[in-house]
Amino acid sequence: MEKQHITIIGGGIAGLTTAIALKRIGHTVSVFEAAPHLRPVGAGISLGPNAINAFAALDLKQALLGRGRLVRTFHIFDHRGGILTRTQVPSDLGPGVLCIHRADLHAFLLEQLDPNELHTDRRVASLIQDHQGVTVRFTDGSEHHAALLIAADGIRSAVRRCVLPRVQPRYAGYAAWRGVVHLPGMGDIASETWGPRGRFGIVPLADDHVYWFATSNATENDARFAAFRIADLQRHFAGYHTTVRQVLAHASDEHLIHGGIHDLPPLEHFAHGRVLLIGDAAHATTPNMGQGACQAIEDAVLLAHYLHNTPDATTAFRAFEQDRMPRTSWVVRNSRTIGGVGQWQHPLAIALRNALIRRVPPRIGQRRFDLANNVRFPHIPAVSEPGLEKTTSTGTRMAVHH
Ligand SMILES: Cc1cc2nc3c(=O)[nH]c(=O)nc-3n(C[C@H](O)[C@H](O)[C@H](O)COP(=O)(O)OP(=O)(O)OC[C@H]3O[C@@H](n4cnc5c(N)ncnc54)[C@H](O)[C@@H]3O)c2cc1C
Repeated sequence: MEKQHITIIGGGIAGLTTAIALKRIGHTVSVFEAAPHLRPVGAGISLGPNAINAFAALDLKQALLGRGRLVRTFHIFDHRGGILTRTQVPSDLGPGVLCIHRADLHAFLLEQLDPNELHTDRRVASLIQDHQGVTVRFTDGSEHHAALLIAADGIRSAVRRCVLPRVQPRYAGYAAWRGVVHLPGMGDIASETWGPRGRFGIVPLADDHVYWFATSNATENDARFAAFRIADLQRHFAGYHTTVRQVLAHASDEHLIHGGIHDLPPLEHFAHGRVLLIGDAAHATTPNMGQGACQAIEDAVLLAHYLHNTPDATTAFRAFEQDRMPRTSWVVRNSRTIGGVGQWQHPLAIALRNALIRRVPPRIGQRRFDLANNVRFPHIPAVSEPGLEKTTSTGTRMAVHH
């Protein structure tokens, strides 16, 4: 496809990674972000081998790995600390799962872009599409004309509201709290603890930091849980094993993040003429597989692949949609199911579930991990590279051993 100027709405993980990938194949980009400043925010995030392989396709893998901590082992415990499952990242899948502070990931992505390509404090209100392009209207009354528009404006996407007005995020039935603590000596294992008061996750980060998250069943917008401080969480999880209590003992109210968990019902289309939905705007998932951002990063690389290898953008958008829809729907469905089972609270149901999980052969859980993570991507050539070859147009994603 001829080189064009491409407009991206949203400066999150999807928008920034897409800007990097599209620049690489020679397009120019403008990213419009609603927030007034791109400040370091959030807690931790884990990026599976699939996301690391996607960064490898952009020649960014080694630089990114230096920013976080690689973890190979993931356990699920019951609330007394007994092991329910063990998952290992096999060596043929790559160096492990990258556990990284979100602020460090954002900083890394921003470093790859020119500040002039980012326009903060520009919140999309509406858009109109005709045969010449897309006119975007911002809440400050200004307008922008886009030949092609990539919507990466998250689960509550304003762009999606314009093209698919009836689609609404679905509440998953539980809320989450997140934070990061400095806690040396926590080891190299990431874990979740499943118990009668919800789940508690512990993820080692670089420099002796630990990302933790907690979930509890809640009605949507539950005001009591929204007001919870660390002391409340300590009481809530008082019956959980020592490591959970130790992490909460080091946590502070400052930077405590709370919110309900939502996903999107799988959409019928991501491509809408000159507008393409990607990331959470297209396929937001519950966080139970740690795959939301990973899928957004996959989107970025595969969009660059299709734009580079297809004669026109709308055909590339449709090819992208066909490729991405089955995989992202699978993640949304599986993740929702895992969360539903993980959130069981009745003691009898928990006892039955835990007994069953302990009997499931480890290869079953390992297989689900492999299906999500065992993917490779075509290399995306940089325009400065000699030859600027086309990437392979068949088998864009190679599943290594499904
Ligand atoms: C508790 C929790 C834990 C998670 N853990 C993981 C994990 O370990 N691994 C993983 O892979 N994923 C994880 N995820 C999912 C991951 O956070 C998301 O999938 C990812 O952030 C989506 O990126 P995005 O860029 O599509 O959307 P967002 O991060 O939501 O970014 C959207 C951007 O668009 C901007 N925006 C919004 N509206 C407008 C507008 N109208 N105009 C202009 N700009 C706008 C926003 O300000 C924002 O900057 C987790 C999610 C949650 C809730």
